[in-house]
Amino acid sequence: MKTTLKNNITVKDICEGFVYNELEGKGLFGLSGKLTIQPEYQRNYIYAEEGKESAVIDSILKGYPLGLIYFHKVNSDTFEVLDGQQRITSIGRFVNDKFAIRDENGLQQNFSGMAKDKKIKIWETKLLIYECEGEESEIKDWFKTINIAGIPLRNQELLNAVYSGPFVTLAREEFSNRQNANIQKWSAYISGSANRQDFFERALEWVSKGNIEGYMTLHRHDKNITELKEYFNSVVDWASCVFTDVESEMRGLEWGRLYEEYHKKSYNPKKVSEEVQKLYGDPYIKNRKGVFEYILGGSNDTKLLDVRVFDDATKNVVYKKQTTEAEKKGKSNCSHCAIGHDANKSKIWNLSEMDADHVASWSKGGKTSIKNCEMLCKTHNRAKGNR
Ligand SMILES: [Zn+2]
Repeated sequence: MKTTLKNNITVKDICEGFVYNELEGKGLFGLSGKLTIQPEYQRNYIYAEEGKESAVIDSILKGYPLGLIYFHKVNSDTFEVLDGQQRITSIGRFVNDKFAIRDENGLQQNFSGMAKDKKIKIWETKLLIYECEGEESEIKDWFKTINIAGIPLRNQELLNAVYSGPFVTLAREEFSNRQNANIQKWSAYISGSANRQDFFERALEWVSKGNIEGYMTLHRHDKNITELKEYFNSVVDWASCVFTDVESEMRGLEWGRLYEEYHKKSYNPKKVSEEVQKLYGDPYIKNRKGVFEYILGGSNDTKLLDVRVFDDATKNVVYKKQTTEAEKKGKSNCSHCAIGHDANKSKIWNLSEMDADHVASWSKGGKTSIKNCEMLCKTHNRAKGNR
């Protein structure tokens, strides 16, 4: 790969013919049309969300360096931005009055309203640009190693770069597009943002059962995203039909896995809703995120709920009481050991060798109170299982 450092390209040059697409949220062209600001393998514009775009303008006004910018020299007169898209888009948006910064007095200031000397300072600022020439594969491989100005690329953003092509382009129009009216519905189940590729990543993860890279390799040249979209919608529709109330703890669950495991079972959404509300009202449940899988699995696996356990003071009191009584009778302080026939039937366990157990199990309505607490040796407690 051949690189040439250019230090005579100004903000004015770069912003000549700057085109910003409001709908797609990205800067498209600059340098009088010779520069493609967002080639298809680049990520979406995220500086506005991250609040970094006014920092770029402040840096220029204060004369701070903006860092290196990398162009891929496609041919003698055409370039693509490899690294610097966010900074260039911020500058282009500012000089086109797409956002304002705060001046020394804290007042909103857009470019066209600025004092002439400040405008000139911005126009004449020179950018440090490396022009890189080389094979596409070599350039992309290298791009994989770049981090853009303090916001590291997410794994999915890297994969989009490496597997760029019609499939990624179509999928991003669907899943990485903030204008998509479905985003709000999806957000009930998926955490993250469209711009940072979280929805696209989940869609891929679900359809590929976790093998995202394999799926992208296989479908890289596809001219449709039918399977991806249908599978994604099946998962979301299934989740929203089974669980009719939207709870914040639903966000970010492994819906793809839950769909695979449970979508063939039938559920009565009304009963499911009642059970969700009942469990949400139960003060002993520490993990509300587990409520959904607990119900899907037939309300058996209490481990998913992380039911509140007995505190140390309770355990201590119960241990002392049990042990005193057991010593008087010459039997083990674990009631299960005491009725056995091996050497443990008279063994006095240390507190650290025992665990607290619900006498009446939690799932059958037993409370986490001292009256319902019994200390068992670890082996017997584990055998009993249900906390
Ligand atoms: Zn025991």
